[in-house]
Amino acid sequence: MYKDTAVFNLIHKELERQRNGIELIASENFTSLEVMKAMGTVPTNKYAEGYPGKRYYGGCEVVDEIEQLAIDRLKKIFNCSWANVQPHSGASANAAVFLAVMKPGEKFLGLDLSMGGHLTHGSPANFSGKTYHALHYGVTKEGIVDYEQLEAKARAEKPKMIICGASAYSRDWDYKRIRAVADEIGAVVFADIAHPAGLIASGLLNDPFDHCHIVSSTTHKTLRGPRGGIIMLRHDFENPWGLKDPKGNLRTMSSLLDLAVFPGSQGGPLEHVIAAKAVAFGEILSDDFKSYGKQVITNAQAMAKAFVGRGYNLISNGTDNHLMLIDLRNKNITGKKAQETLDKAHITLNKNAVPFDDKSPFVTSGIRVGVPAVTTRGMKEVDMEIVVNLIDKVLMNAHDEKLIESVKEEVKGFMKQFPLYPEL
Ligand SMILES: *Cc1c(COP(=O)(O)O)cnc(C)c1O
Repeated sequence: MYKDTAVFNLIHKELERQRNGIELIASENFTSLEVMKAMGTVPTNKYAEGYPGKRYYGGCEVVDEIEQLAIDRLKKIFNCSWANVQPHSGASANAAVFLAVMKPGEKFLGLDLSMGGHLTHGSPANFSGKTYHALHYGVTKEGIVDYEQLEAKARAEKPKMIICGASAYSRDWDYKRIRAVADEIGAVVFADIAHPAGLIASGLLNDPFDHCHIVSSTTHKTLRGPRGGIIMLRHDFENPWGLKDPKGNLRTMSSLLDLAVFPGSQGGPLEHVIAAKAVAFGEILSDDFKSYGKQVITNAQAMAKAFVGRGYNLISNGTDNHLMLIDLRNKNITGKKAQETLDKAHITLNKNAVPFDDKSPFVTSGIRVGVPAVTTRGMKEVDMEIVVNLIDKVLMNAHDEKLIESVKEEVKGFMKQFPLYPEL
């Protein structure tokens, strides 16, 4: 059927890599086969600039139904009054939020990248830090968000927007406390739940929606959908900040956000990906997904306990969610070396700066470990013990090539118990 053997052979090679390895990158997951099937379909051929019922092209009646179904399911998951499912990624969703809320040069406050924040929360290398005036809060020595610092900076600097959310933070958020200081200074609260969204969807973590004006997420991390982004509002509002559209008209927050996605920052939506998002949202509305979320947290806690039992230092001493950040300085190995060595044994995770790290972001003192992907493959608490044993063996013998080769074979054998896409 396929003529391009070069590309499809590589795709098959990637499938084998995924099958044979232990995937611990906290931002990754395995979608269902149905989600993938929806992605490789004919809506990819369709131009549909605009929104359902308000398109700039003809022939959109079917993709209108697809996109509306995705919107309706997403609204149901998070009990929202409005959602936009078009952002191509989490970063694109965040770009649209900035465009809707902020003028170039205005101030906002976000978690520092070196303390677990995301590039789009004000890194100097990112549009958010280049276009707007980024201010940051951090975490305490114990590794918990420094709410006192956040409050002090908010009061002193009066940013227009406060962002909560992170990429490498293992604890839940006090959204209510952030909203309280935002109300004092009249700031917009924007929660970026790209990482824990699936756990929030299952009601297993604090609900940001009642306290945060705007919420964005990716769809491919704990939500287990296709790669993409989303933006949501529980309550739409006639915005009290006097935010205007490009023509100078006052608008509700939802219409400002719609305009900021299209035509503000994107062109045609990826309707085949939106179809796959709709499939994933359908799965999230099932009971199976809720038990998945519970198992993710159970596994993360079992893994954290196993690491602590072997003398590893966990930032904040544990986890509330799907991931943990480990400071490897007492184990005399850098994050970079740990990542590279584990890779050779087909255990995949990423090096990560720890709070107050003395090493560069390219080397780092830590690793970030997440369980959403291995939980999707069917692992339980007992398997977390086995995985931590394998990791420990590699890290404590990082120069023993022969041993690492044997761990790689052990990993491959172990993963046969957790079949991945047996139909493919
Ligand atoms: C992953 C992530 C994003 C970006 O998602 P992409 O789809 O990679 O653009 C944004 N914010 C946070 C907090 C993230 O963890």
